[in-house]
Amino acid sequence: MVPYKHEALTDFSKEENKKAFQEALKKVESELGKKYDLIIGGEHISTDEKITSINPGKKDQVIGVVSKANKELAEKAMQTALETFETWRKWPARLRADILFRAAAIVRRRKHEFSAWMVYEGGKPWAEADGDVAEAIDFMEFYGRQMLRLDKGYECLAEEGEHNEMYYKPMGVGVVIPPWNFPLAIMCGMTVSAVVTGNTVLLKPASNTPVIAAKFMEVLEEAGLPAGVVNYIPGSGSEVGDYLVDHPKTRFVSFTGSRDVGTRIYERAAKVQDGQVWLKRVVAEMGGKDTIVVDKDADLELAAESIVYAAFGYAGQKCSACSRAVIHEDVYDEVLKRSVEIAEGLTVGEPKDENYMGPVIDKAAFDKIASYIEIGKQEGKVVFGGEVDESKGFYIQPTIVADLSPEARLMKEEIFGPVVAFSKVKDFDEALDVANNTDYALTGSVITRNREHIARAHRDFHVGNLYINRGCTGSVVGYQPFGGFKMSGTDAKAGGPDYLQNFLEAKTYTEKL
Ligand code: NAD
Repeated sequence: MVPYKHEALTDFSKEENKKAFQEALKKVESELGKKYDLIIGGEHISTDEKITSINPGKKDQVIGVVSKANKELAEKAMQTALETFETWRKWPARLRADILFRAAAIVRRRKHEFSAWMVYEGGKPWAEADGDVAEAIDFMEFYGRQMLRLDKGYECLAEEGEHNEMYYKPMGVGVVIPPWNFPLAIMCGMTVSAVVTGNTVLLKPASNTPVIAAKFMEVLEEAGLPAGVVNYIPGSGSEVGDYLVDHPKTRFVSFTGSRDVGTRIYERAAKVQDGQVWLKRVVAEMGGKDTIVVDKDADLELAAESIVYAAFGYAGQKCSACSRAVIHEDVYDEVLKRSVEIAEGLTVGEPKDENYMGPVIDKAAFDKIASYIEIGKQEGKVVFGGEVDESKGFYIQPTIVADLSPEARLMKEEIFGPVVAFSKVKDFDEALDVANNTDYALTGSVITRNREHIARAHRDFHVGNLYINRGCTGSVVGYQPFGGFKMSGTDAKAGGPDYLQNFLEAKTYTEKL
């Protein structure tokens, strides 16, 4: 088997790539507005209650109308997944991995089409959507290979006259609850990691992006995944989500999303229910308040570019997005000025028209971000952006708020939008103190030429993913395993060598010879 290597990104400066992408956008546009059923054990089930998925950049455009599960259908899906587990868990790991490799090949063939769905349903600009698809392919290629490695088990030590081994076993039915912001990559990664390890899955996609998940179900079927291994049950987080998290037969919950929902799931899953004979595992990857620190001795152009692109890529709707710039007082004014100049060059508008930044995901996000901009006006100075417009879609201009105290709400709370907070510090010690002063610890960057400061950051900047002399977004599967500390979650390190163990139990076998 060829070694894993990440999927190349599309070069949109090439005319033929641009044309191919525009064709995909046209094709997908002609397919908008269709109905999508639940899929339980391969059976398509239509319900009266629906989720209407819209284009956040053009609110009157319906992407699809998706059937919504209720508790009864969630229970039916659970029973199906329990039954299917009894056959699926016996499949050899190699055959399970083959399905991931086939699915990766199918998505690779339909790459621009999947990107186009994300342009419409997720409001993703072209390059962001292309990166999302590449990451989904990477997860499948990487986890497939990791499963083959783990399948070899661990060669234990042994006394004379005994044989010892330790090997990994699937666990049971997992509830997979992804967010909307990487509607293909994270949803796919969370699903296939649970599946390749031999578990069966109840997939409750995010309510803003259920159509992309439905499209991925088509891929899994085409790749040969048996019916009932992944059951697609869109529904309300509080109804279907709570029901399945509480369910005594749920063996694990794999969640990525906000801190509020993640901590709620963690708490509920901890309660042992009547008839439950295990402790549920919970993987909960949550929010961030990610910082770029700029030192006195630094490449200031690199600093400004890193801040702007990490803050405003996909309108700041990445858990890794730069939402704070903590800058040495000697270079603060210059970095702020250059950041504003670079931000002035960003275009905002419908993602299908190749703008740098599209809308934010929905009305609730729009209102929340707009209210933080108002708070920013009280706490600091809005030096760029600040305008919001929801007439056609949920558009918010890239916004830079300067001169904030480290204790300001804008410096502490996750906004999850195109707003970056600037704060001035007197030296590198204070910069690290400020960088570490939130409840989150997901990503962070340091821009500096000072080797001693790099060594200090390496040791003391408390984040799951630390970057030196580059922005804090854009981790690549297998290259930068991803996950954070503190309230950013369980540090499961998606795309890393230990991730699959979250969904496996290790069994030790000893035989007297
Ligand atoms: P969210 O918490 O609102 O929703 C996440 C998922 O949980 C959705 O599928 C939602 O329907 C579901 N849900 C809601 N209530 C539920 C309940 N009571 N029980 C079970 N499920 C429920 O988050 P979001 O808005 O989709 O995503 C944005 C958040 O995700 C941000 O905080 C971001 O930082 C975080 N995020 C983290 C990572 C990471 O790897 N750490 C990656 C991406 C996003």
